Amino acid sequence: MNVFNVAKAAVSAKDVAAFCGININRNNMCLCPFHNDKHPSMKIDKRYFCFACGAKGDAIDFVSAYFGLGLKDAAIKICDDFNLSYDSSYHHPPQNIKPKKSDEQIFTEASDYCFKVLSDYLHLLKEWKIEYAPKDESEEWHPYFCEALNGISHVEYLLDILLYGGVSDRVFLIQDYGKKVIDIERRINEHTARRKANDKRFSRMHGECR
Ligand SMILES: [Zn+2]
Repeated sequence: MNVFNVAKAAVSAKDVAAFCGININRNNMCLCPFHNDKHPSMKIDKRYFCFACGAKGDAIDFVSAYFGLGLKDAAIKICDDFNLSYDSSYHHPPQNIKPKKSDEQIFTEASDYCFKVLSDYLHLLKEWKIEYAPKDESEEWHPYFCEALNGISHVEYLLDILLYGGVSDRVFLIQDYGKKVIDIERRINEHTARRKANDKRFSRMHGECR
């Protein structure tokens, strides 16, 4: 097999990013090395896609962009780094062993991801609307209650577009909201972790009382 096929078959974008010392969280998100990223904006697995700057590709594209190498040199570097042997006399153009993900597939994955996070967020906002509702007229409104009032119909509208919108509407939505959706996911995770910690504390207190 030639160097391209060997590198592509054996190594994912996630593997090479980890090899470069990039931290990848359990949601397969990492800081994008191709723009000045403060919160993980890049989804990475077999291929990678950055919601903020749009960088995307496979393991060879990643190494090529990260080290400023041509595609062939990037593939050779991968084979060297991962101790893969290849046929260097083979000069055919690169052929894919597994069908490469098309831009459309990458887009569908991004769209599914946005939909999942926004659905979770809508669910949370509906909880907040009840849980943090002011008990009487004099009580100041809790920020979560305000967020729920402002957010619910807007998030429902975004979910409608993701479900029923045309391709161009969905592309615009993902470009506009991709970064925000990642922030929302982070907040949901933080909120869930906080709630779990509180529940634990509560059940401990409850246990002590008995
Ligand atoms: Zn980026």
